[in-house]
Amino acid sequence: MCRPTIVSIDHGSGFCFGVTTAISKAEDELKRNGSLYCLGDIVHNGQEVDRLTRLGLQTIEHDRLAQLHDTRVLLRAHGEPPETYQTARQNGITLIDATCPVVLRLQQRIRAVYCTQPDTQIVIYGKKGHAEVVGLEGQTNNTAIVVECTDDLQKVDMSRDIALFSQTTKSIDGFSDLVDNIRQQFRGQRFDYYDTICRQVANRIPDIINFAQQNDILIFVGGKKSSNGKVLYQHCLKANSHTYFVSSPEEIDSALIDLCRGQRVGICGATSTPLWLMQQCAEKIRQGTDRP
Ligand code: SF4
Repeated sequence: MCRPTIVSIDHGSGFCFGVTTAISKAEDELKRNGSLYCLGDIVHNGQEVDRLTRLGLQTIEHDRLAQLHDTRVLLRAHGEPPETYQTARQNGITLIDATCPVVLRLQQRIRAVYCTQPDTQIVIYGKKGHAEVVGLEGQTNNTAIVVECTDDLQKVDMSRDIALFSQTTKSIDGFSDLVDNIRQQFRGQRFDYYDTICRQVANRIPDIINFAQQNDILIFVGGKKSSNGKVLYQHCLKANSHTYFVSSPEEIDSALIDLCRGQRVGICGATSTPLWLMQQCAEKIRQGTDRP
């Protein structure tokens, strides 16, 4: 007799509170005014962006912001550099600021070091060009040194003071490696490091590994632009080699459904993956495996 297919969703996956709050703010505004600009993708998930676009949200980039006047613009959870606020003031734009409080605190800490310790090199462990990192660099008038790995420490002068921060979504292990590496080479007076990694993301890693190990097959649902999605997917793949990355139910084809038949199938995702999308993927597998 065939084993039944058991499909379950990882309820630890899905939006973090920063993204949830930004989306609620956008929905409230759209209910009141019918349309709203958002600077950059509100979340790195195409399906959720499409849903909000249908409600009236219009995603714009920075060059477009400079051309707008007397309108309302939402700032997403990643935060923005000071220039964005300046442009908004000059153009009479009302900002609906949905910067996550965790990111806002990090920006303030970096700014405080920049303003009070002018001789200290500010080093940010993060992805160059990522919107959050751009906002963090802005707090230092773009003088911060962004490092993605220990090799990038070549850019840092080890004879001068260093203050090391982290983008909120980086890995704790990567941050510890940087701290150890700097300690070994450091010849300055003062090396301060601040573990500013968001636990909403970091704590998901052990939980998602556990979930991956409890299932025969794992379907990881994530947006192709999500850095957090890439990190979590790699952890899942390491824990369970039968892990498949999809961005939507349409990407679950008949070959994948056949693989799922009679198995324990886990559905999980990134902090930018909406629950409704994971539910649609689960439903597609349930319906597909129900058919002979
Ligand atoms: S991952 Fe953490 S810091 Fe980033 S938006 Fe979510 S709650 Fe805020």
